Amino acid sequence: MAKLSSELNKKGGILVISGPSGVGKSTLVGRLRERFPGIEFSISCTTRPPRGTEKHGVEYYFLSAEEFEQRRVNGEFLEYAGVFAKRYGTLKSEVFGRIERGVDCILDIDVQGAMQIKEKCAADPELAAVTDFIFIGPPSLTELERRLRDRKTDAEEQILLRLETAKKELSFFPEYDYLIINDDLEKAAAELICLVSSLSLRVGRYDRGIFDR
Ligand code: 5GP
Repeated sequence: MAKLSSELNKKGGILVISGPSGVGKSTLVGRLRERFPGIEFSISCTTRPPRGTEKHGVEYYFLSAEEFEQRRVNGEFLEYAGVFAKRYGTLKSEVFGRIERGVDCILDIDVQGAMQIKEKCAADPELAAVTDFIFIGPPSLTELERRLRDRKTDAEEQILLRLETAKKELSFFPEYDYLIINDDLEKAAAELICLVSSLSLRVGRYDRGIFDR
């Protein structure tokens, strides 16, 4: 009897999503997950302290600098980077199990981490076959500055640091596979949903023997 497509032994995808602070990345990823509740989020490790209502194991695994370093030395990270003077890293255990079970996994990481994964993909065709790099950009730097100031959460010094970092990050967009410009939230959310549903059709996600039955 023919197998259902859900039994096709299809791999999940690694969706690497980057974009500067203030670009609306979290809102867009939230929209994506509303549309596809099956997509899961890789929970990163960080040495920064929790903000507001953030909980260990929900938004991040909050680690001490020593714990982070130990995990790094143990080779537990797929990538790691320093962002705003703190360390952030993606655990291999957050990603690979999901991919093998056919579950798509979102990695909301900065450009340094994304470039490390890109290098790994260059050396590992199996990883490359399931990994896509998506960059979320603002309509312009001026608009990004306006949004950062409108949030009224950061001090002037923080805003300037975020803008400086954003400029550097924006220069990396050509290294990614896809660019979504968040000018109009509804349009950008629709583009992201359409992109992710198309990416699930990449041949690299399918088992080579799917027709042998
Ligand atoms: P926040 O501290 O505001 O939650 O995140 C700051 C930045 O760190 C964001 O740009 C976010 O994408 C990035 N980030 C979060 N987790 C990771 C991670 O595991 N690896 C890397 N390289 N960046 C991360």
